[in-house]
Amino acid sequence: MLVVMQQGATEPQIQAVIDRLVEMGFNVHRSTGVIHTVLGGVGGKDDIDLGIFEVMDGVKEAVRIASPYKLASRNFRPGGTIVHVGDVDIGGKCVVVMAGPCSVESRDQIFAVAEVVARAGARVIRGGAFKPRSSPYSFQGLGEEGLRYLREAADHYGLKVVSEVMEIAQIRLVGEYADIFQVGARNMQNFNLLRELGKQRKPVLLKRGIAATIEELLLSAEYILSGGNYDVMLCERGIRTFETYTRNTMDISAIPVVHKLSHLPMVADPSHGTGRRDKVAPMARAALAAGADALILEVHQDPDHALSDGAQSLHPGQFEDLMRQLRAIAPVVDRTI
Ligand code: PEP
Ligand code: MN
Repeated sequence: MLVVMQQGATEPQIQAVIDRLVEMGFNVHRSTGVIHTVLGGVGGKDDIDLGIFEVMDGVKEAVRIASPYKLASRNFRPGGTIVHVGDVDIGGKCVVVMAGPCSVESRDQIFAVAEVVARAGARVIRGGAFKPRSSPYSFQGLGEEGLRYLREAADHYGLKVVSEVMEIAQIRLVGEYADIFQVGARNMQNFNLLRELGKQRKPVLLKRGIAATIEELLLSAEYILSGGNYDVMLCERGIRTFETYTRNTMDISAIPVVHKLSHLPMVADPSHGTGRRDKVAPMARAALAAGADALILEVHQDPDHALSDGAQSLHPGQFEDLMRQLRAIAPVVDRTI
């Protein structure tokens, strides 16, 4: 359930509601908005009398949340969430572009790509050091060495870092180098990993599983939020359908759907969403027009020799052209880049 406090409710009034919720067996999650403070009570009984809270001083209303996810629900933070990654805000008016290779392959490679993406206006560099590959014989990533190169290149060009964490044992290491933990599609329902990330105080980019519904994606986010880590971004990266022409089917409609259901920022990944370089720019433009708060794009200085996902990686020139187009589209949907 949620208790929405009146505008100007005092700290003692808020505290009294928190105490009451705790007394009734709820875990309390507080969202302090610009206008209203919202208290989310999770874990308590479903059938309590909402009137108990409605008569308390400073309370505007108490609502039972019917959806299975509570903290991910739009009701918890009607104004939306902005995830702060240092001085980069994701979920505000400015659309953030994250770009980089699928995998970190060498120091030279990541520096070359970092230069390209930073110059073109990306704020975050992506690059996997631990790679979830369909085949055990494919390149599995450089591990810590890759993370070190990624951090060095990011610092050199003033970028933030997003990199995938595949298991609990990697959290500490990835957290030492990355600004954002990426949870890959294959791990969207690795609930133990999600719970552990809920204990971290670092943003998480949670990708939609290849066969996951939007509700399942939001429930996975709930695992992280319920641990007290509210800095979660969701990512549409294409789902598995009967269509085989593209690698996945990019579900652009997930962007407005999630925005309606949830306060969490929505990231679009047209690289994995299509699997084909020539389809990435059209889908990136569509995602921006549909309201994406950020885009994550694979860019490689020599895609034809990439160690992973070369077919969907943009050439530097293609990325620069796309950035120019995105800048032209953004104002039409009241955004900037
Ligand atoms: C990636 O970002 O390179 C990746 C493996 O993504 P996904 O988990 O969406 O397949
Ligand atoms: Mn990839």
